[in-house]
Amino acid sequence: MSWIRLLEPDLNLEGPILNLTPDLLIQNGLRGLVLDVDDTLVPTTDLQVSAELINWVEKTRAVAKLWLVSNNLSQSRIGNIARSLKLPYLYGAGKPSRRKLRQAIAEMDLPLEQVAMVGDRLFTDVLAGNRLGVFTILVEPMVNPDSTSRLLALRDVEIWISQRLGASLKTMRDRGFYALN
Ligand SMILES: [Mg+2]
Repeated sequence: MSWIRLLEPDLNLEGPILNLTPDLLIQNGLRGLVLDVDDTLVPTTDLQVSAELINWVEKTRAVAKLWLVSNNLSQSRIGNIARSLKLPYLYGAGKPSRRKLRQAIAEMDLPLEQVAMVGDRLFTDVLAGNRLGVFTILVEPMVNPDSTSRLLALRDVEIWISQRLGASLKTMRDRGFYALN
């Protein structure tokens, strides 16, 4: 695999994680998900999980084992979110390091082919998952519309760099995201 390919997700959901359905997991043979936390599940600016997210977790855990693997160094933040969702977690993961992804997948006791890494960032989540050889899913960030322009810009910079390198992803700006706000 070329290193440019390492920045391309297997699936670009083009929506928030709430759009990831049990059917989609079954179609792709996925029985385990390693989930990024900040902006994938909960906006960085928020402390609480949403009712919609709790519903999504309940639906999804019926078909797949779920682990939270976050780069956040705050055990209290990630631990609180994990307890709200009743999910196991690892924090301070240092993605794109593969180490804690491996640890979570070992706990799931699933083969790599049946696990996906799901996250909002190319240079941490997608890169870590592709380096490990699991299916990778890029989601759009869960955002609080009042406080996101800096974060979205940073995410778009990653996508822009990957496009310059030859990847084929579209940024939210390309798709008119800002025009909708
Ligand atoms: Mg994130």
